[in-house]
Amino acid sequence: MDQRPLPPHVLILPIPVQSHVNTMLKLAELLSLAGLHITFLNSDNIHHRLLQYTDIQARFARYPGFLFETISDGLPADHPRAGQRVFEMFDSMKAITKPLFEEMLISGRLSSDTRPPVTCVIADGLLSFAIDVAKEIGVMGIAFRLVSACCFWTCFCIPKLIETGEVPFKENDMDRLIMCVPGMEGFLRHRDLPDFCRVDDLADSKFQLFKTETHKTPRADALILNTFEQLEAPILSHIRSHCPKLYTIGPVHAHLKTRLAAETTTSSSSLSSKSNSLWEEDRSCMTWLDAQPLKSVIYVSFGSLAILTRDELMEFWYGLVNSKKLFLWVIRPDLVAGKDGEPQIPVELSEGTKERGHVVGWAPQEEVLAHPAVGGFLTHSGWNSTLESIVAGVPMICWPYLADQQVNSRFVSEIWKVGLDMKDTCDRATVEKMVNDLMEVRQDEFNRSADMMAKIARRSVSEGGSSYCYLDRLIEDIRSTSV
Ligand code: UDP
Repeated sequence: MDQRPLPPHVLILPIPVQSHVNTMLKLAELLSLAGLHITFLNSDNIHHRLLQYTDIQARFARYPGFLFETISDGLPADHPRAGQRVFEMFDSMKAITKPLFEEMLISGRLSSDTRPPVTCVIADGLLSFAIDVAKEIGVMGIAFRLVSACCFWTCFCIPKLIETGEVPFKENDMDRLIMCVPGMEGFLRHRDLPDFCRVDDLADSKFQLFKTETHKTPRADALILNTFEQLEAPILSHIRSHCPKLYTIGPVHAHLKTRLAAETTTSSSSLSSKSNSLWEEDRSCMTWLDAQPLKSVIYVSFGSLAILTRDELMEFWYGLVNSKKLFLWVIRPDLVAGKDGEPQIPVELSEGTKERGHVVGWAPQEEVLAHPAVGGFLTHSGWNSTLESIVAGVPMICWPYLADQQVNSRFVSEIWKVGLDMKDTCDRATVEKMVNDLMEVRQDEFNRSADMMAKIARRSVSEGGSSYCYLDRLIEDIRSTSV
């Protein structure tokens, strides 16, 4: 039998939400730069929005081996796909997307005379069905978890948390220290566990989803994490005892920038990393930032999924205005849970903001964080936002909303010391105090640690850095198993 290696062809399947699609597209571009064939499988809904707001079709056209395909996420067109309802997607994907995915791979219709068959599947780590299908057809199956290693490890330890009676826990026991998550003894409290651990009933579907999917990860041939060794080394060594083939290749957004810059110097064309936004970016904020003094602005954004009540929105607003600091605030069109007929943004907010603030519906976040006028980031502690802030050297105030964010914010404040954790409170007095602490009282201290962390992060994705070497190894392993 002919055992010559086939040209590697990687099928990439993200969960169809902004942050996962964005990062997996960046990974797709990193692999495309290495000359691999890539099929990127978007949900119909996401693909439509990407075509509407970005130039991805043209951008990826420069990679001859790259193709987009689409598949249904199983949800009706008018589903909000945000807030806690985003989790309904997992059931619909299992019921509708899984059989379509299976058929797509088994039928072999992703290959042609000019396109080799799929030799590797890289699937979002919460979609273990895709790894099962890869195994069924006998190709390499790699899980990509798009959370921090510290959150992944916490989820991995859920059976131990149940066994020791730490989960479920009571509201009045939120500050009790947890001692059974190796590597996190003495600083992880109940309130720092992912939000889906706040359950009375262990049969809760969201809790079961994360517990089960995380426990299936070692079944994959390998695991990719969007982190870097120096950030999470002690936790990574615990993970490696269960998932020995672990590639830490992050921060992926910075890694892509490095590799594109290197490519530009060796080729005549200019390559740069562009947006994969699902909303229209309002670039007026960049002009506004240009007019502000150095490190004077606090950037406020709660990512792509969080939904605030009107009261929470107003507490943040009063806190920001009372802090007397300049602020740039992203208020997505679907950020606030409004009652029918009420305007999305209260009138007093848009009127009263004029003096010190600027509000946009969606910002070019990476560029905003890199702007010299930005001195702090009030964030929901989504993993991408956290990494983007770390790379830009911008200290954070964390108001975690769901999933991994509760763990991330604890690490930001207690371990990495690049910010403050506002967890579970957002009254105006706390917001005002934290903004002033971060931007004034403790500004030098936070700037120093954020600068140091940024340097380490950038080094990891430079030639010879840990993430750079792990990406090379991943590419090599994909090539060598494509037989
Ligand atoms: N983002 C953006 N513009 C905005 C707000 C967010 O480009 O106005 C991007 C941000 O750069 C990040 C992603 O949206 O890459 C949010 O991902 P994260 O993991 O932080 O949070 P999630 O949206 O999953 O809650």
